[in-house]
Amino acid sequence: MQYLSEQELHERQLSQLSDLLQFVYARNNFYRHRFNEAGIQPASVTSMEQFRRLPILTKGEVRARGRELLSDGFDATQLQKAKTGGSTGKPIEVLFTEEVSQLRNASGRRNKRWIGWRVGEPVGAVWGNPIEPDTIRERLRQWILDPTISLDTMSITVDAVREFERKWRRMQPTLLFGHAHSVFVLATIVEEENIEDIRPRAIIASSMMLLPHEREVIERAFGIKATNIYGCEEVGLIAGECEWHEGLHLNNDQLIVEVLREDGSEARPGEAGLVVVTDLLNKAMPFIRYRMEDYAELASEPCSCGRGAPILRRVVGRTADFLKRLDGSRVAGISLIENTLTRIPGIEQMQIVQDTLSHIVVRIVPGPDLGTAQRNELVAYFATTFKGATIDVEDVCGISQEANGKYRFSICQIPD
Ligand SMILES: [Zn+2]
Repeated sequence: MQYLSEQELHERQLSQLSDLLQFVYARNNFYRHRFNEAGIQPASVTSMEQFRRLPILTKGEVRARGRELLSDGFDATQLQKAKTGGSTGKPIEVLFTEEVSQLRNASGRRNKRWIGWRVGEPVGAVWGNPIEPDTIRERLRQWILDPTISLDTMSITVDAVREFERKWRRMQPTLLFGHAHSVFVLATIVEEENIEDIRPRAIIASSMMLLPHEREVIERAFGIKATNIYGCEEVGLIAGECEWHEGLHLNNDQLIVEVLREDGSEARPGEAGLVVVTDLLNKAMPFIRYRMEDYAELASEPCSCGRGAPILRRVVGRTADFLKRLDGSRVAGISLIENTLTRIPGIEQMQIVQDTLSHIVVRIVPGPDLGTAQRNELVAYFATTFKGATIDVEDVCGISQEANGKYRFSICQIPD
């Protein structure tokens, strides 16, 4: 389906959507209620304009209502389960059928094939809390279908990377897969230690945006292009780059992805908006107009590869990554990083923490080239961007990760 035109994919989405809406109206109490409250009949939803009248589903609601979202006729004990990482609160439990699980795996594998990996080839994973198979059957299955070696993101030390290199020599993975920042940390060690045997044919950086300067270091260390993907446990792969690396193709044969302004209207290409997803597959626990806590920008041009699915130019960050100015406006953490870390020489890593409207702490890992002039430039940039706020620069030896193994580069601690 990847070479269907955008229009053909869109028509297919609308027909799957109509099927899903009729299904939930008949078999899902939670959604039937919402539709009735909004005065909407599923049969009347035949265009995106009408679809946008359906209420938005928040993470908070899913967390609070849990299994009330299950449709009639599905037995929770017979369904597959996934849990979201708990970095911003209690995890969300997601339930789906075996069929949905396989379709999700298929789209993940299709994305990996775009960049040169083949089904069955070994994978080197840089992942927090790697899952080790515990039964003989699972171990055999992994050995045959998903041969994987892991580097735990909780301890990416030189010794651990050397051990990973030894496993790499034995298994010869073709794909390096991991959390974006952890792949970057691995790349810095590979460069510094002149490690030559970790040579993937493809690299996928997931779980967060790939910062421009991190992409540069990864591509230099491994000598190939890095690929960014965006997804979540609730709906699987949302978007992924192809071999052209011009942006992330929306997973339009399984989802409807909207990019919306605060007032609910459609954001223009190039304009950052909130990501709202509808899973066209999961009928057991439907996610309809589910608001991700991420901002992204759609691209105005199609990708040169000829695949029909539109592309996200980039994922800008989570809502919690936006810092606030005294006048109430907000600044994306990624643009702060782009304007400082990537432009001022001598800063190796950085994390920005805002605890009050008038106080920002900039944690930096200083490199050998960092002098007084660069420090002053850093403070001046933040002082101009956040007029009236006090800026403190704090030297640290590393940026620590959260319990789920992910890193956050800008953290706003002011409640909404
Ligand atoms: Zn493409």
